[in-house]
Amino acid sequence: MPALDEFVREELEKIHNRAGYRALSTSYRQENNRVARDEQELISFACNDYLGLSHHPHVKEAAQQAILYYGAGAGASRMVTGNHPLYSELEKKLAAYKGTESACVMGSGYLANIGVIPALMGEKDLIIADKLIHACLLDGIRLSGATLLRFPHNNSAACEKLLHKHRANYRNCLIVTETIFSMDGDLAPIAELSQLAKNHKCWLLVDDAHGIGEVETGKIDIIVGTLSKAFGSYGGYICGSNLLIDYLRNSARSFIFSTALPPMVIASALAALDIMKEDTNLAAKALANAKLFTSLLGIEAAQSTIVPLIIGEAEKTLAASQKLEQEGFFVAAIRPPTVPPNTSRLRFTFSSQHKQKDIERLAEAIKQGGW
Ligand SMILES: *Cc1c(COP(=O)(O)O)cnc(C)c1O
Repeated sequence: MPALDEFVREELEKIHNRAGYRALSTSYRQENNRVARDEQELISFACNDYLGLSHHPHVKEAAQQAILYYGAGAGASRMVTGNHPLYSELEKKLAAYKGTESACVMGSGYLANIGVIPALMGEKDLIIADKLIHACLLDGIRLSGATLLRFPHNNSAACEKLLHKHRANYRNCLIVTETIFSMDGDLAPIAELSQLAKNHKCWLLVDDAHGIGEVETGKIDIIVGTLSKAFGSYGGYICGSNLLIDYLRNSARSFIFSTALPPMVIASALAALDIMKEDTNLAAKALANAKLFTSLLGIEAAQSTIVPLIIGEAEKTLAASQKLEQEGFFVAAIRPPTVPPNTSRLRFTFSSQHKQKDIERLAEAIKQGGW
C-alpha cells in the first residue's frame, strides 16, 4: 500500500493529465455581477444569482435583523432545537409558490436530493432518469440502491420505451429530470414525462434548482429546489403533498442528521421570495438578457438564463475562458466530469442585473475569439 500522499499525488496527476484540475481562486462578489479577483474587476457571467437577490438591500437587511435577534447559528438539527419559527413561514410560502400542499426546507439542494431519493426508493425499485441529470441526483440514486436506467437527454419517447420494457419487473418506479438543465440551459418535456408517469404508475421527481419562478407544468409529485441560486441565499427544499413531506421529515437522513440552517439564512430566503413574487420583471429581465446574448451571437435562442457555448476540448475551453478573463469577463469553463467527454463548454449565466452594453461587449469578444 502506498503512503497516503503518494497515492493522492498520483491521482492528482491523472486529473492534471485530463486537463481536469481545478484551482480555487479567491473572489469577492459585489453588486451588479462584479467580481474582484487578483486585483482585477471582472463582470461575472458565471453566478447563479439570477435575480441579483444576494445583494438586494431588503435581503441583506433581513439577514442582519435575524442575526441581531436570533444569533448566528441554529445550534442543532431541526429535530432537536434548530426548528426556528421562520422555517414554517418559509415552508408555507414555498409550497404556495410552487403550487403544492407542503414543503420541507433542507440544508442545501444537494442534501435535499440525497435525502429524498433514498427515502422513497430501494433495491426492488426502478429509477428512470434523463442522461444529463445533476451529480447530486445521481448520488441520491446510488444511495437508494435502486436500479437506474437512463434515457437520452429530453427524449421522452426513449423514456417510454424503457418503461414498456422494464417497469413491470419492479415494485415502485421514479422518473427523474430537471426543469432547466444546469449545463445546457434547455427545458425538460415535463408535461410529457408527467403523462408517462401517470400511464405507467410511476412518480415524477423534478429538480428545479435553476428555476427563476413558478413551475407551470403538468402534475409533478416531487419538486426539489435550492435557495442558493435565484434566491441568492443558501439551502434547499422539497415541495409535495402533506403526506410526502411529513414522511420525509421522518425518513430523509440528510434532514434528520444535519444541523438546521441558521435563522438568518431562512430570513434572507423569505425576503428574497417576497421580492420574487412582487417583482416578476426581474425574472423576465434575466431571460431577456440571455436572449439578447444569443441573438447577438446568432445562435439558437436562449430557453433559460443559462447559455452553453460548446467548444469540445477541455484545454481549448479553458484557454477561451482565460482569454475572456483578460478582457474583463468571468465565464466558467465547464469540463468533464461535470459534462460528458468532448463537450467542454463556456457556460454563461445571465441575471436581471446585467447591463446591455456589457452583454454587447461580451458577444463582441466571443466573435473576436472565434469560438
Ligand atoms: C446547484 C444544483 C443543485 C444543488 O443545489 P445546492 O443548493 O447548490 O446544493 C442540485 N441540482 C441541480 C440541478 C443544481 O444545478
